[in-house]
Amino acid sequence: MKNVYQFKGLNILVLGLAKSGFAAAKLLHALGANVTVNDASPEEGNKEAAELGEKGVHVICGGHPSNLLEQGFDLIVKNPGIPYHNPVLVDAVRKNIPIWTEIELTYKISEAPIIAITGSNGKTTTTTLLYHMLNIGKKKPLIAGNIGKVSCAVAKKATSENTIVLEASSFQLMGTEQFKPKIAIWTNLYEAHLDYHGTVEDYAAAKSKVAANQTETDYLIYNADQPKLTSYVDAMAARKIPFSLKGRREEGISADETQIYWNGSPFISRSIIKLPGDHNLENILAATAAAILLGCDHEAIENVLSSFTGVRHRMQFVKELMGRKFYNDSKATNTLATKSALAAFNRPTILIAGGLDRGQSFEELRPYMNNVKVVVALGETADQFAEFASSCGISTVLQVESMQDAVRKAYSLTAEGDIVLLSPACASWDQYPNFEARGDEFINAVMAL
Ligand code: ADP
Repeated sequence: MKNVYQFKGLNILVLGLAKSGFAAAKLLHALGANVTVNDASPEEGNKEAAELGEKGVHVICGGHPSNLLEQGFDLIVKNPGIPYHNPVLVDAVRKNIPIWTEIELTYKISEAPIIAITGSNGKTTTTTLLYHMLNIGKKKPLIAGNIGKVSCAVAKKATSENTIVLEASSFQLMGTEQFKPKIAIWTNLYEAHLDYHGTVEDYAAAKSKVAANQTETDYLIYNADQPKLTSYVDAMAARKIPFSLKGRREEGISADETQIYWNGSPFISRSIIKLPGDHNLENILAATAAAILLGCDHEAIENVLSSFTGVRHRMQFVKELMGRKFYNDSKATNTLATKSALAAFNRPTILIAGGLDRGQSFEELRPYMNNVKVVVALGETADQFAEFASSCGISTVLQVESMQDAVRKAYSLTAEGDIVLLSPACASWDQYPNFEARGDEFINAVMAL
């Protein structure tokens, strides 16, 4: 950790005491700040609150008192999930108090260079791929952010020998001022999180903060196939490394049907890649470009691409049984993700889908249903999904109550060479605590066959 004195003696409010708030409060206290933490949940039984209280941190739990800011704070560090219309934050904006998320702290204290990965989709997959490449390439990577450990806690322990691979959400990036990664990756830009950000422009502006402070000694790896995204990239000062699936190009990293090219020269044959789908090829290009820039050798990159079969619950290859391949894409909680999953396979597919009813439409999936021969629908939207599948001309459409049933019925309707894909296009909260639990149940059901 760098010697940082700027927080000494400052009055700092840490808003939200989840994992990131706890780590930020501990760090700021250690750096000599007068820290107050505030959380809406009760103090009773809250281990983190008790530990911070023992250290001398001022803990206010059980609500956000309306006069909270009267104590006069110099800085607020907020949990990324707390929206800006929270009354405390509205008041803070009025009082001109800076509002950060802990990734700003990460930048301030880190001795290790930071590689920040953002985008609407593909963050976790790209972060994981890059982590494995750097690991095999002996670059001592540390994984941080949404995907793993709280980033400021990781940065506290990192040395200049390490590289921090940080998955950064738009919510986190909004709370940055000077955050400046050595390499930024911006995978793509789709409409998302508009309940939080209000407009696509605000959302894109938050994402573009990943590169806003970069200079010509830094790199920005970005999706050159998305004109809307490139319009934001044009204004950035970093050295730009485009990635594209639209054939070989002279600069950056690109792919055609058979090869991946680095600066126009063949780099790796696509035939070795295990991870299915064009969307994953985008993630592969972005991670590979970063690995090359960080000095990873060809062998390390090739090793990962020829063995990596997906992050758990994201187009994860589960098993092959009697020539039928099972994929778990439980993380596909919207139609956009299910679209990518369906586009990834050019084989007869048995699709297991449905989940939480948000009044959504599945219409967007229609052009992608050509290879789907059977639909097994479950969850709150089972009726609606079944109706949609029938309207696409799919002759075998079943509705089931449980994942075990879904997997058993799906298997019974397969032929050799088929794909069985769980890609629900819906959130999981109608039947499960989270998408991980749903995916685990799918895996268990497949293993039980
Ligand atoms: P994130 O961390 O941004 O949510 P993940 O890597 O966890 O992204 O993938 C989430 C879902 O999005 C997966 O189910 C996958 O099908 C889809 N996806 C992954 N990468 C991309 C991409 N580059 N473009 C579009 N969709 C993608």
